[in-house]
Parts: sequence; C-alpha cells; structure tokens
Amino acid sequence: MYRIRFHGRGGQGLKTASRILGTAFFLEGFEVQDAPRYGAERRGAPIFAYVRAAREVINERGIIRQPDLVLVADDTLVLIPAAGVLTGATAHTVLLISSTTPAAVWKERLKFPGPVVTLPEAAELEDRWELRFTGAACTGAAARLVGVISRNSLAQAIRDELTPLREAVIARNLEVALEAYELLADHAGGVTEGQETPADAYEKPGWIDLPFEDARISAPVIAVPATSEKVPTGLWRTVRPVIDYQHCRRCAWICSTLCPDGVISVNAAGYPQIDYEHCKGCLICMTCCPSHAIRAVPEHEAAAEAAGGNL
Ligand code: SF4
Ligand code: SF4
Repeated sequence: MYRIRFHGRGGQGLKTASRILGTAFFLEGFEVQDAPRYGAERRGAPIFAYVRAAREVINERGIIRQPDLVLVADDTLVLIPAAGVLTGATAHTVLLISSTTPAAVWKERLKFPGPVVTLPEAAELEDRWELRFTGAACTGAAARLVGVISRNSLAQAIRDELTPLREAVIARNLEVALEAYELLADHAGGVTEGQETPADAYEKPGWIDLPFEDARISAPVIAVPATSEKVPTGLWRTVRPVIDYQHCRRCAWICSTLCPDGVISVNAAGYPQIDYEHCKGCLICMTCCPSHAIRAVPEHEAAAEAAGGNL
C-alpha cells in the first residue's frame, strides 16, 4: 500500500491535491482513500491531507503515521513542530519539499532518514495569485514519484476533479501539474509501497494523567498582549477585498463586526477601512455586505491598480 501525506497551508490547494491524486490512482485500478485534516480552518493555517492507495482492499483507517511519501508545499512548515511534517518518517520515506533550498541542505538540516527531493519551480512562483497552484505541482510530483500513474491518468484526474472550475483555471492546474510530472522524470518510481502494519503492532498512545490543578496551572498564558499584530497575515492573501465607497451605505457594523480577524475599522466619517497588512483574504466581508459594496480583486491585479493609484 502507498501511504502519502501532503502538508501545506490553507489556500494552497492541498485538499484538492489529495483528491486529484486519489482519483489518478483510482483510474489506474487502485483502491483509494483520501481525506484532509484541518487545524484552524482558515487561510494560511497548516493543514495536511493524506492518500492511501492499494491493489487490494484497504482496511487501515485514520491518519497516516508511517508515510512512504511526504509532500511539503510550503517549506516554512517544516520547522513548525505542530505541523507534524516529519512525523513517522523512516529511511523508507521520501520527502519532497517545494523549496529553492537544495535537497542536500534539507537532508542535513533535518537529519532526514530517507531520500529528499525538492521542487524549486513551485517555490519560485513570484505572483501570490499563483500560490494556489502549488497543490497541483505537488500532485504532479507525487504521481511521478510513485511511478504507477500515467500522464494521461493524471490529466484525466485533474479534469474530473476540477470540472466545476473555469476552463482557464483547469488549464493552469494541468500545466503546473504536468510540468512537475516531467521535472521529476529521473525520480520515477522512487517511492515504493510500505509494509502492512499488523494491528497488534500499533503502539497505544502514551496517555498522561493530568490532575485538574496541574492542568489549570499549566494552561497557556498570554503574557504579552497584542503580539498578533506583529504577524503580517496579509501575506497569506491571494485575493483582496476592495470596498467601493460609492456603494457602501456605512452600515458599519456588518463587515467590521463579522471580519474574523478584526481588521476592518470604521473611520470618523463612518466608513469601513481594511488593514491590508493583516487582512488574510477570506472574503467573509464581501459575502456579508448587504450592499455588495466589496469586490474581490486578485492580488496581482490589486498591486497593479495600487501602483496606478486606483485603489
Ligand atoms: S457591510 Fe458593506 S455597506 Fe456595510 S459598511 Fe461594510 S462595506 Fe459598507
Ligand atoms: S477584511 Fe474581509 S477578507 Fe480580510 S480578513 Fe476581514 S473578512 Fe476576511
């Protein structure tokens, strides 16, 4: 059985990547499981998704603990312990990182026990609007690394899974995934199926008894308030909400209250103002504005408009 784990940030298309890879395996005659796991469900937060694929019935369930392949769409996650990127890696595990740092450096830095491969093309995307295609690049890379998925099945899986999207978006996903597929031709078949783990070989979780009083004392304390301001969450955004003040009715509380990050303030004249340093681009404000006064603008267009003084 192949056990594959994708790691990335919300908005990078990792959930879709796992679905596409699962469908591509299915088209090749495999039994498949694929599922995403979220922590905080928000753009930019670490997420992972996993795929199991086997020629026979899959009885194994739950999170993949001993992966044959780990794909990391965002190399900043590697050093975040909570993201669990390296969990369960063995000498059999292949690690693929979307990164401009050479594979040998990652191997040494992480003391990674198995082979490490990088996908620099995906990491070099300068336009943040393009970051949403990182998942497609990882899918193409995974399909090539396992060596049992043909180019045609990969392309068919992308079309099947992305059917509701615009043709231009499907075409770009195809282009990015097939580029990665070609790029890793030298590594075809580098990932092999892991051994079946018998049920009685699983270790029970190491439960810790935590008396109530200890739990109360050891609960996290925010010693220095307002530090979240220092995290520029605006970098997570691929789409920017832009307020059309001609149509804004200054109802004020709707967008500023419902913004989950509290980044819309209201000025003395009653108009809402968005703090783009911290707006993460979830577009909840656009969805809830009763006057349809907020539109979504792709970041690359917004940057061009701002440079021309139109925003
Ligand atoms: S919800 Fe819409 S109309 Fe109301 S203040 Fe915000 S932008 Fe203006
Ligand atoms: S301003 Fe709008 S898009 Fe930005 S974080 Fe708030 S609700 Fe989301």
